[in-house]
This record gives sequence, structure tokens and C-alpha cells, in this order.
Amino acid sequence: MSLHLTDITLTYPDGETRLTALDHVTLDVSRGSLTAVVGPSGSGKSSLLAVAATLVTPDAGTVTIDGITTTGMTRGELTALRRHKIGIVFQQPNLLPSLTAVEQLQVMAHIDGRSLTKDRGRAMELLGAVGLADHAHRRPHQLSGGQRQRVNIARALMNNPTVLLVDEPTSALDHERGAAVIDLITHLTHQQGTATVLVTHDRAHLTAVDQIAEVHDGRLHLPTPAQ
Ligand code: ADP
Ligand code: MG
Repeated sequence: MSLHLTDITLTYPDGETRLTALDHVTLDVSRGSLTAVVGPSGSGKSSLLAVAATLVTPDAGTVTIDGITTTGMTRGELTALRRHKIGIVFQQPNLLPSLTAVEQLQVMAHIDGRSLTKDRGRAMELLGAVGLADHAHRRPHQLSGGQRQRVNIARALMNNPTVLLVDEPTSALDHERGAAVIDLITHLTHQQGTATVLVTHDRAHLTAVDQIAEVHDGRLHLPTPAQ
């Protein structure tokens, strides 16, 4: 197991009281496996990813990545952990307009203090893995929405993370392109060996995932055991 969320409770201030976004959530995801998280809007899906990403500290419960429990870590330690162990794909790609596809990936290595040239090989390999080897030198405005999302996914894998967290990657795409993105994430999970959590509102594409977790009012249910 590479990502463990254990008995996580997260609340937000809500006027005089507090709103419970996550209510005693426990989830284990192994490397090379994909867990889909589905549930209605406002049920706590993005909150779950934010806690798993160590971007938000829960009121109670623990996050363990690669055997490292994050409780009590400083901000600097969490930043380093995220950089080395966690790939995050948000709904909107947020690519830098002036950089080409390959440069978007190389920037990740640069932030990490590694050499740009050395990491060009890894960047090109990942662009190949997402089917964009021929588009490495295009800037975001020269790519379609689906292609930009593929660059976004490749970028999240640049630092070879243990954990890949993906929030509603298909929401801006049509059905066919959405299905292709989910297939790609499934493929990359196996190929790169990430412990992947994929949040999606669209159950239609979830044919090849290892487990489907449902969130309702901050509570997580695992109705279908892994096949
Ligand atoms: P989902 O991703 O399933 O739509 P979220 O995790 O975004 O759900 O939200 C869960 C609940 O927590 C919702 O009621 C939402 O309004 C609330 N919430 C989310 N983020 C915040 C925040 N930063 N401050 C206060 N309430 C929040
Ligand atoms: Mg959300």
C-alpha cells in the first residue's frame, strides 16, 4: 500500500458552526492501482484530494505516503514531500502560456533544482506516453483542450511520483475525449506504478478501475470490492 488515508475528518468554518466535509474517511490505494471516487457535487471529493495532497491538514486522522506519516510535518517538509512523491492534476490544466509542451514538463524538474537538459529525455518520454510526441514544441494555444489535459497529466508524472491525484479531468471534454483521458490515466497508473485516485462525476468511463469509492456527505463507501 502506498497511500493510506486513515480515519480522516475535515471541517470548515461555517458561520457559528462547522461544516463536516470529510467524516471518518479511510482509504488505501496501492501502487499501480486506480481508485475512482464518485459522488454528487459538494459531497467532499475535492476535499479528499486536498487532504491526500497534503494541501489541507485534516482535523483528525492520518495521511501516510510510502510509509511516511505526514502528521506534524512542517510546511517545508510537506512541500518537499509533495514535490517528490505526489503528482496533482486539477480540473483546469493551468499551463504557462509562453512555454511549449516539453518546457511545461521541464519546469517541474527545474523547480526541483535538477538540470534542464538531463530531464528533457524524461519529458519527451512522458509526452510520448500521453500520445503527444509530435506536439512537444507547441504552446498551449496551439493545442486542443484534450491535448492540454494530456500535457497536464504528463507534467504531474514528471518527478516520478508515488501518488497521482486527479480531480475531474474530463469535465471540460466531450464524452469521447473524456473516455480517452480516463483510459490514459488507467494505462499510466499501471505503466508508471502510481497509487492513483481519480475523482469523476461520470461513472460511464469507469470500466477498468480497481475500486470505485462513493462519497456522500463526506462519508466514503466502497460498495464494489476490487476485482
Ligand atoms: P466536491 O468536490 O465533491 O464537489 P468539496 O470537497 O469541494 O466537494 O466540498 C465539500 C463541502 O465542503 C461542500 O459543502 C463545500 O461547500 C465545502 N467546502 C469546500 N471547500 C471549502 C472551503 N475552503 N471553505 C469552506 N467550505 C468549503
Ligand atoms: Mg470538486
